[in-house]
Amino acid sequence: MDFNRIKEKLNILADAAKYDVSCSSSGSNRTNKNNGLGNTGNGICHSYTEDGRCVSLLKILLTNHCIFDCAYCVTRKSNDIQRAAFKIQEVVDLTINFYRRNYIEGLFLSSGIFKSADHTMERLIAVAKKLREEENFNGYIHLKSIPGASDELMYEAGLYADRLSVNIEIPTISGLKLLAPDKNHADFIKPMLKVKNEIIRYKEEKKIIKHTAKYAPAGQSTQMIVGATGESDKDIMYSATHFYKNYNMKRVYYSGYVPISMDSRLPSLGTEVPMLRENRLYQTDWLLRFYGFSVNEILDADNPNLDMDIDPKLMWALRNLNFFPVDINKADKHMLARIPGVGMGSVNKILNGRKFRKLDWDHLKKMGVALNRAKFFIICNSTDWERRDLDAARIRSMILQNSKSKFKNQYTNQLSLFN
Ligand code: SF4
Repeated sequence: MDFNRIKEKLNILADAAKYDVSCSSSGSNRTNKNNGLGNTGNGICHSYTEDGRCVSLLKILLTNHCIFDCAYCVTRKSNDIQRAAFKIQEVVDLTINFYRRNYIEGLFLSSGIFKSADHTMERLIAVAKKLREEENFNGYIHLKSIPGASDELMYEAGLYADRLSVNIEIPTISGLKLLAPDKNHADFIKPMLKVKNEIIRYKEEKKIIKHTAKYAPAGQSTQMIVGATGESDKDIMYSATHFYKNYNMKRVYYSGYVPISMDSRLPSLGTEVPMLRENRLYQTDWLLRFYGFSVNEILDADNPNLDMDIDPKLMWALRNLNFFPVDINKADKHMLARIPGVGMGSVNKILNGRKFRKLDWDHLKKMGVALNRAKFFIICNSTDWERRDLDAARIRSMILQNSKSKFKNQYTNQLSLFN
C-alpha cells in the first residue's frame, strides 16, 4: 500500500466531506456478533467540533469527481480543485485500522457522482458489504444515498448501513432548479420513499419473525443548506416538516452555506456562514418535534423569519402574552412546555415535584429552569418577584440586557444579497 498516496487522498476526500453535517450516529443498536469488530450500542460517543459538526466517524467521500455542477458544492465538475478517488478496499482498510486504534466509532461515506447514480451507489454499497461480511464489522455505517439510484440498490444499501441519507440540499424546488440544474427533485424523493417503505416493511416483519434482518435501523436523514438561496425560515421549516411527516425522517439537518466560489446566484465570497440562523432553525425543529408546536404558530406571513436575538420559543411567547402568566403549580404539561426557559427535562421535574409541595422560585432554579427568561411568564408559590406591568418590547429588552450569546460576534446577515 502506498501510504503517502492514501494520506493524500484522505486529506482531499475528508476535507471535501466536511460540508455534510448529516452524520449524527445516534439511534442504532447493532450488537457485536461472532466475535466481530465493534458495536453501535447506546454508549457510542459523538464528538462535535466547536461549530457543532460531528467528528466521531471517519467522514470521507469515496471520490470528489462528479459529473454534476451544483453551484453550492465544492466538488462540482467546473471547480478547479485537486481530485481523488479511493478504491473500495482502501476505505475498508482505513475504517478497520482507525476503528482498531480507537480513532472512530464508525464510517460516514458519501461520494461525488461518477459515471452514474447507480455506478456510484454500487461502490458505496460494496464498501459497506465488505465491512459487514468480510471484516465482520458491527460498527456504525452511514451511507449517502445517491439521488436517482435504483430501488434495488437502495434496498441493498439498507441491509448493510445503519443510516441512509439523501441530502435535499436546497429547501425549495425553484432554488434547486436555479443552483443544481442537472438535478431533478424526483431523484431525491425516489430513494427516500424506497427507504421509508422498506423500514416500515422490515419493522412489520420483525413483529412476526423475530430474527428478521435489520434494515437501516437508525433510519434516514436529510440535510438542507441554509443561506445559499433566498428561502425564508418559514419555507425551510415547512419543507422540513414535509420530510419528517411524509418520509419518516429521523433528522433534518440544517447547514449554513459556506461560500466557496464567485457565482452571481450565490452570496459573495467572504459572506459569513450563518451559524446563528442554523442554530435558531435547530431550536425550531426541536420545538416542532418535542414541544408540540406547529410551524404556523412560530412562522407566518407576517413573521417569515426567526428572530436572531431571541430563541423561537421566546419569540412565540412574546407574541402570545395572552397565554401568560402560567401557574407552575397548576398548568398542564402542554402549557408548561411552552414557557420560555423551561425545557422538557424541567417540565417533568415540575410535574413530579409539585405532587409533594407547592413550587417556588428556589425549587424552579434547582430544577434547571432558566429564570432569567421564565420569570416573566410564570406564577409560582412566591410573590418575591412579581411584575405584570411589562409589555412584550420591555420584556424582550430586559431579557436581552442579561443574556450572552456565543454567536453574537459571528453572525452577519447572510441574506443581505436577497434583501
Ligand atoms: S451531485 Fe453532489 S457532489 Fe456532485 S456537484 Fe452536486 S452536490 Fe456536489
